[in-house]
Amino acid sequence: MPYNAALAWIAANTELIDQTRMAIWEYAELGLKEYKSAALLADILERAGFTVQLGAAGMPTAIVASYKSRQEEKEKGKGLVIGFLAEYDALPEVSQAATYERQPLIPNGNGHGCGHNLLGAGVLGAALAVKAALDTGKIAGEVRFYGCPAEELLLGKVLMVKAGLFSDCDIAITWHPSSKNKVCGLRHLAMNSVKFNFYGISTHASGSPDKGRSALDAVELMNVGTNFLREHVNSRVRIHYVVTNGGIQPNVVPSYSQVWYYVRAPRRREVEEVYKRVLDIAQGAALMAGVTHDVEFVSGCSDTVPNEPLLAAVQANLVKSGGNRFTKAEKEFARKLIATLSPSPENGRQAAAGGAGGKNSAEGADEVMQEEILPDDGNRGIAYGSTDVGDVSWVIPTVIFETACWPKGNPGHSWQTTAAAGSALGLRGTVLAARVMALTAIDCFTDEDLVRRAKEDFERQTAGTPYKSPLPDDMQLKI
Ligand SMILES: [Zn+2]
Repeated sequence: MPYNAALAWIAANTELIDQTRMAIWEYAELGLKEYKSAALLADILERAGFTVQLGAAGMPTAIVASYKSRQEEKEKGKGLVIGFLAEYDALPEVSQAATYERQPLIPNGNGHGCGHNLLGAGVLGAALAVKAALDTGKIAGEVRFYGCPAEELLLGKVLMVKAGLFSDCDIAITWHPSSKNKVCGLRHLAMNSVKFNFYGISTHASGSPDKGRSALDAVELMNVGTNFLREHVNSRVRIHYVVTNGGIQPNVVPSYSQVWYYVRAPRRREVEEVYKRVLDIAQGAALMAGVTHDVEFVSGCSDTVPNEPLLAAVQANLVKSGGNRFTKAEKEFARKLIATLSPSPENGRQAAAGGAGGKNSAEGADEVMQEEILPDDGNRGIAYGSTDVGDVSWVIPTVIFETACWPKGNPGHSWQTTAAAGSALGLRGTVLAARVMALTAIDCFTDEDLVRRAKEDFERQTAGTPYKSPLPDDMQLKI
């Protein structure tokens, strides 16, 4: 009955999920600035009877919303707490209408090029569906909606963990829009995101170069240094940078220059080791250029810890859900969208069929949209990206899965993703995700053994490595 109540709630409220994901898609707010998106989600949760805190861990757009069963209220919250992790931040420069032709809504504007509008709306649907299940009186416990800002800055959840917001939560469930319906058992990379500021002396670059000290020289020397460093680190380490300020014009020696680095590795310990060497290189570069420098820590996050019992529970619910069926018109839209990734129509068709880098033959019958549920391939290797879900996964058992919200072979952080996230494709994947999240939460409320095994697996995987926040204590949050 609780399962039916949750599924019936989602079936009856697909329009609410749709309206929410479209509103957040239109707001397209960047990390830490998701004011309208967070206010909308908080308002819906409050009206549904959740106790809502808008603003948490020093972020005005963070949400912690809780709903307890009647029994739980009476017993003063001794039962199980299941948390859902929502995200709703957009990306710069991928503004796009929900169409397969390049058509920015705002030139160079923000867009949901990672589909976090879907992520947030799907989690909202799951939380409200679990409330409906709790209201049957057949299960007891607390469901919590964690609205996590600034995932794209790898920041929100790290700060929320640091503030202790997960200390009384038992299990975290989340998802991410994707081109596939599958559990995510890979380990994302831990990372540090850091800006290096160099300060020199301006002068006429040609008339009196001896009087100047170039901050840009230091940036260039630092980059040369780290490029030599690459040879002497583990091959799974990733270092990338962009020069965010290289001076204004060539005849003025730059007095200020900035370079922004990401340092990634499979584990925090490795990130910290490589990061220390990068700090030394920055110092060496400043010495060589005769300038001063400081270090601005933007964010850091941990790798993700997979949880076997929870992955198995989600996989079973994905299979139970039966996947998705896209209409002919939706598939046609997907086909046209994916064709834009290639200069020639012929290559576009190949890409859609998986011939240009896809692995689609094993991914189901439809050439462009993943409709079936993929089996868990048991791969617990590296995913060469990072997510702040990692930090939650180091403090409580956490599970992530994906559903198909855009075509096979479609790259993330692209205008094509923004288009799909505003189209019918995105809605179908979101509703599927809401169902699977709600069913998995109810599994936890009804199956003590599942929760016990999830906690045991978490203890086993994290034993001997106590969690330490990647963020320095004196870090200043810039909002
Ligand atoms: Zn994302």
